[in-house]
Amino acid sequence: MNKLVKRTAKKAAAAYLCVRLSEFRRSMNNHIKKYWELRLEKCKKSLERNNFGAYIAHDRKEAKRIVTKDILPEIGVKSVSWGDSLTFYATEVLDEMRQNPDIDVLETFAENVPREEIIERRRQALLTDLFFTGSNAVTETGKLVNLDMIGNRTGAITFGPLNVIIFAGRNKIVSDVETAMKRIKSYAAPVNAIRHSGLKTPCMKTSFCTDCKSPDRICNTWTITEKSFPERRIRVVLINEDLGL
Ligand code: SF4
Repeated sequence: MNKLVKRTAKKAAAAYLCVRLSEFRRSMNNHIKKYWELRLEKCKKSLERNNFGAYIAHDRKEAKRIVTKDILPEIGVKSVSWGDSLTFYATEVLDEMRQNPDIDVLETFAENVPREEIIERRRQALLTDLFFTGSNAVTETGKLVNLDMIGNRTGAITFGPLNVIIFAGRNKIVSDVETAMKRIKSYAAPVNAIRHSGLKTPCMKTSFCTDCKSPDRICNTWTITEKSFPERRIRVVLINEDLGL
């Protein structure tokens, strides 16, 4: 009988702990959710103050919906291209563009195309109606910080395409430009180099930046985009997910 009572008590205690644990997890998830909502909202407002169009998407699927259902009908583009961005690829907006018979997609990353042709296409991409890409960092004060190897991405963000749409996961939000630059040089750039297995840079072996002189150096041009000019030429879709580097 005693054994039975003990076993029942143990089971009840375990069930109680289980309930408390799931309540704790739920409450923590709510706190974390609230944290990101506040952070994203603050960043959105700062971007708007700096004349960017700004949007918040719960996830990559909503980011795609915002672009295809809200932004594209408003700006009405006929030609698009893009700069390398894992976050952009994750949204699958590119697939949607490729399937749209009314939009010319300038492919600037096509395999089996000679390098000279790719570079020429990237020059032409600067004349498209819309350029998609990501941002290495977005500051809480509403600035975009980017570092490029070739400059096709930073170039397009700065001037050329009539419209630019930038996708940024919540992990790209940092306090200020200095923190953004540190994050990019200590994390995004080395990982990006590692991602391109055809390159040879010291950071690919060590994981940290030595400000190298490698011919394959991927860190050549910084841009800090403080404001969008003209107003809303650049639109930033902030995504409430960790995406990209
Ligand atoms: S400067 Fe060179 S070593 Fe530093 S992150 Fe860039 S490619 Fe790597």
